[in-house]
Amino acid sequence: MTDPARRRLLVALPLLAAGWACAPGADGAARNRPPAADDPFADSPWRRLTEAQWRERLTPEQFSVLRQHATERAFTSPLDRETRAGVYACAGCGLHLFESRTKFDSGTGWPSFFDHIPGTLGRSIDTSFFMTRTEYHCLRCLGHHGHVFPDGPRPTGLRYCNNGDALTFLPGQLPEPASATGVPAPV
Ligand SMILES: [Zn+2]
Repeated sequence: MTDPARRRLLVALPLLAAGWACAPGADGAARNRPPAADDPFADSPWRRLTEAQWRERLTPEQFSVLRQHATERAFTSPLDRETRAGVYACAGCGLHLFESRTKFDSGTGWPSFFDHIPGTLGRSIDTSFFMTRTEYHCLRCLGHHGHVFPDGPRPTGLRYCNNGDALTFLPGQLPEPASATGVPAPV
């Protein structure tokens, strides 16, 4: 193997590993789930949008991540490098999910957080790609966001590995409680 080829391989290997870490989830893991009795968003109009209505509202990239569990390529989202203060909201329904103070550079190429705003995320077990991982999604619209791993920094020790396409960054904003987030219901 020539030196440049070896160098390319050495660069590619960690990227491939990181790619697996955030690889797409099982098809439909978070979709079509019957609402739990304690589900605060069980009656939300966001839950009743059809696939066609979601396609109208979202970009193709947002649709494939949020509604089809795709994973964007690593290092492609500008939000991976975003360092300003503000709030990260669900690109599907606008629910505030993460505060900038919980964001950190994980080196994986995806926006990463060590905590989320309480009451905004649901989890499911994802067994695709011969792995058992924990998928998480927006609790209001059930849009897929990423996977959470137990290798994050203190104080939680968690790493929420989020697709940038699934987020909207609101610079300078303070988080609002889930129940009071002033996003209009879909029409
Ligand atoms: Zn949402």
